[in-house]
Amino acid sequence: MGTVVYDRVALIGLGLIAGSMSLAMRKAGLAGEIVGHARSAETRDIAREIGLVDRITETAAEAVQDADLIVLAVPVGVMGAVAAEIAPHLKPGATVTDVGSVKQAVIEAVSPHIPAGVHFIPGHPLAGTEHSGPRSGFATLFRNRWWLLTPVGGSEPAAVERLAMLIRTMGANVEEMDAAHHDLVLAVTSHTPHLIAYTMVGVADHLKRITESEVIKYSAAGFRDFTRIAASDPTMWRDVFLQNKDAVLDILGRFTEELFVLQRAIRMGDGAHLHDYFTRTRAIRRGIIEAGQDTAAPDFGRSLTEPPGKS
Ligand code: NAP
Repeated sequence: MGTVVYDRVALIGLGLIAGSMSLAMRKAGLAGEIVGHARSAETRDIAREIGLVDRITETAAEAVQDADLIVLAVPVGVMGAVAAEIAPHLKPGATVTDVGSVKQAVIEAVSPHIPAGVHFIPGHPLAGTEHSGPRSGFATLFRNRWWLLTPVGGSEPAAVERLAMLIRTMGANVEEMDAAHHDLVLAVTSHTPHLIAYTMVGVADHLKRITESEVIKYSAAGFRDFTRIAASDPTMWRDVFLQNKDAVLDILGRFTEELFVLQRAIRMGDGAHLHDYFTRTRAIRRGIIEAGQDTAAPDFGRSLTEPPGKS
């Protein structure tokens, strides 16, 4: 068992990320007590039934009472409303963090509500699956994954270090990054790829020539992987695109330009162009494997990010 880093941790939202945090903190003995709250009675009941946290509260305000660390693990579009609700109940000296996939919009929405004497340290674990809800979490989700912190001006270094220690002990690697830079990087590495996956699955769905059963039956690696990504939570992803609008539109513009160049190479029979292009992209894939963020195994590294029994 590790050392207790925070006596009381409050998790607002009880889905994939909060659930995985609870299980990881519990496994390593990092919190004295873990209190949780989710919006719906159904989610609270499931969390209670499976013992996801030590105590469930009916309101977010009750959950943060006397908490030393508060984690906002709700869709990015509701972070501001949740922050407003809990603000009057925060203990002086407490730390509030979030796990939202977008940082600038969350900082703008949450910061104004944080009272003086409370630390706000925004964060984003680069770890996830297409599963959501209180039953989807698992203790090893963050192992060997990045967890980016985007401290706002005036974040106390000691408070940042304490949070970083908790995250590292859950198995993740911590790095600090500027929020605007974070949003651009994630638009490239996560947000736009998700939009492309949603689009590709949508295209297949619209093609009446290819019946649904054929698409599923002959689903090869490319399309199959798109469908996995396109199964991600609709609320979470709607909010990500609305809240990281500028960066996503910037990357989509670049993507469309590249796509037209490739389209033209195909039309003109320019095999040399296609070959050069694919040679460069292959090198990027090798770099990701060398960086330990995936494996070359035919399961596309899924065993690293998902619990046994989930595929
Ligand atoms: P999730 O499994 O869908 O869980 C979201 C939780 O938020 C649910 O428990 C939901 O409660 C609760 N919630 C929604 N609105 C609420 C409100 N107004 N007040 C209180 N609780 C509310 O989502 P998740 O995957 O854990 O994502 C949570 C956050 O982590 C998001 O900001 C997302 O961008 C970020 N993130 C996700 C991933 C990923 O791959 N999934 C990775 C990194 C970061 P109900 O069930 O009652 O609706």
